[in-house]
This record gives sequence, structure tokens and C-alpha cells, in this order.
Amino acid sequence: MNGANPEGRFCEAEGEGCRCTLCPHRCFIRPGGSGLCAVRRLNRAYPGPPAKAALELPYYGCITALAEDPIEKKPLFHWRPGSGILSAGFAGCNLRCPFCQNWRISQISPADGGAAPVPPVSGRRLSPEALAALAADSPSGGAQIAYTYSEPLVHAEYLLACMEAARQRGIANVLVTNGCVNLKAAGEILALTDAANIDLKSFSEETYDRVLGGSLPAALDFIRLAVSLGVHVEITTLVTPGLNDGDAELEEAARFIADLSGEIPWTLAGGNGVPGAEKRGPSIPWHLSACHPDWNWNGPPTNPARLLAAVERARTILPHVYTGNIPGEPEDTSCPHCGAVLVKRRGYQVDASGLGEPLPSGTRDAAFGGGPAGGNRRALFYRCAACWGTTPIRA
Ligand code: SF4
Ligand code: SF4
Repeated sequence: MNGANPEGRFCEAEGEGCRCTLCPHRCFIRPGGSGLCAVRRLNRAYPGPPAKAALELPYYGCITALAEDPIEKKPLFHWRPGSGILSAGFAGCNLRCPFCQNWRISQISPADGGAAPVPPVSGRRLSPEALAALAADSPSGGAQIAYTYSEPLVHAEYLLACMEAARQRGIANVLVTNGCVNLKAAGEILALTDAANIDLKSFSEETYDRVLGGSLPAALDFIRLAVSLGVHVEITTLVTPGLNDGDAELEEAARFIADLSGEIPWTLAGGNGVPGAEKRGPSIPWHLSACHPDWNWNGPPTNPARLLAAVERARTILPHVYTGNIPGEPEDTSCPHCGAVLVKRRGYQVDASGLGEPLPSGTRDAAFGGGPAGGNRRALFYRCAACWGTTPIRA
């Protein structure tokens, strides 16, 4: 990259240092120190001239992982099924999930709480324009890019610049995130987001606070805002034994998702190839994934039978609930009206030939909440080839 990194702008001067206002932690950062995520620092010379609140972003444009992935790996099952996506990962995270599978890139805080020099991270520096250009030329067709692996939101300034560069090239922005960010940044980022998989790690404020180092209210607000802005949203919960796998807690989460998506109308099958009446009902997909011990988590892995039972219970509330991280388990998308398989998935092998006819593009944009749609949020409903009921899937 050329020139100095841009300054972090989600912050305010306070006393002898700066308050980072990007996420609910609202870290107070002293000169020479960094926030909890380790990627936002204050110059040692602060408040020397120029005496203004501005954080340094030592990892601006530092891409720690870059790979072509199937969209199903994000996971997104109702967004461009079977497509590929260039996926970029970053350094650092504002949470401390003890089972983090990407802890080598997400947990980079210096041991002394931020006063030590910026820890080295192996990665590749790419300007937002360079990353968008790579996405445009990617083998998967250049239609979309994912910000993923560790936590993109702590790099809000870089993320926003990348999303704008991608939009200018007609590339769709896909965000994979914990959703723990304050509303100002959330609004700016989600206005440029086309599709998102958002973690709902637990439905307990105490678990978020005590175990994960995050904020349930912030995550819920982020999900609500994404839906209201018309972003294609899917939700993931890593079902972790003894932490968030209680029946009552999972049911509460399912009802929250159902209430959110209940305003989206879709058409019931009328039979004999004739569309029936419209109904309103839940449509946001929920991914319940199995947890395996990693990093600081030595608990037992999720029992597959218990996870499948949880999925079955959730399906009494939501029509599209999927298992994750259970090898060999089918993750098909079925018609919610007649049960016919619309998209067949075996691992990352995807057969979408069961999807029937798409309804004309754009006709249902308003049904997804409208919002500042941009060019990449075409809402398509597919008509089941067997019964003609519609299923919300975006292409
Ligand atoms: S983004 Fe980082 S520095 Fe800012 S408040 Fe959150 S954890 Fe702290
Ligand atoms: S939010 Fe994601 S990247 Fe961050 S610690 Fe948790 S699992 Fe790891």
C-alpha cells in the first residue's frame, strides 16, 4: 500500500487518552496503548500536535487469509446457492470466544493489555481498491467478496473503504460477523452490505458478558438493523454443550428470529400449478452448528443426536433450520409448503436443480424491507417445481 494508513475515526478525546466508540467495549486507550481488540492504538506522543482524537490502525489492509470458498462455507444457504466467493480474513477480534477456531489470527492482543509494541501478524497488505480488483478477477467469477474468518467489524474504516470499492465494481459485499458493534458504525457498514451471516452466540446476556466478552443487546440490535435495511440475513449459533444448548434458550433464540422475519410475505401453493394465497411467516435461515474443542475450550464436542433434536424442535418455529459441522449430514433446502428438495447439499457439493422458476427479479424487493438496496440485493423468490409455493432465496 502507498502512504500512511488512514486514521481511525470511531473515537473521542477523553482525559489523557481516547475513547474508542466502535464497539460496546468502548475501550479507553492511553497514549502508546491499544484497545482490547489490539488493532486500534493511540500514538505514544498523544496529545502532541495535532491534538485531535484519532486512533492509529496498524493493521489497516492487513489481510491474514485470502481464499476462494463456496458460499455455503460462510454459511449462506439462501443466497446464490452453489456460488463461489473470494474470502478475506483479518487480524484481531473484540470477543474472546474460548472455542474460537481462528484464534491464531483473532487473538493477537499483547500480554500486557496493550502497552507493548504492535505484535507482528503475517499477512499481505492490500489497499481497498487492490482487494476489490482481486475479487473482480477471482476464479469464482468476480461477483462477490466475503469479509470473514476473524472479525471484520474492528476494521470498520478499512471495511467501509473495501465495501465502497467493491460496490463501484458491482461486486456484492458479504459480511460474516459477530455483530458486536455500536449502531453508528453498524448503520454505515450495513448500508453497504448485501448479505450477512451474523452470529447469535447465545441468548443469555451473562454468557455473552462473562464467557465470550461480547454484548447480546449489541448483537440483537445489529441483526434487527440488518433485517430492517433489507440485507439478506442468515444467523449462526454454535451449539456448545453446557453453555448455550438448553432447550429454553434455543427456543427463545428461534422465536426472536421468527419475530424478526415474520413480516416477509411469501406465496402458498394453491395446487395444480396455481399460486395460492399470500401468507406472512418466518423466513430467515438459522444454522445450528456443532462445536469442537479448540483454543481454550476443553469441553465435550456437541453430540450430533442432541443437535439434530434441537434442529427438529427449531423447525416447529422456523421453516429453514440447518445443521453445521456434522460430516455426512444432509443440509438440503426443502420447500416449506410440500417438502420437495429444492437445493441438495452433500458437503460443499450443491445441486440447485430442484429450484423451480424464479419470480421476476425485483418484484419482491419491498417484501425484504426495501432499504437502500444498491445493485446487489435483488430479491428472488423461487417457485417450487412440485407445488408452486414460493421460497425466499436471493440470486
Ligand atoms: S473496537 Fe477494539 S478498541 Fe474499539 S472499543 Fe471495541 S475492542 Fe475496544
Ligand atoms: S467472534 Fe469469532 S473470531 Fe472472534 S473470538 Fe469469537 S469465534 Fe473467534
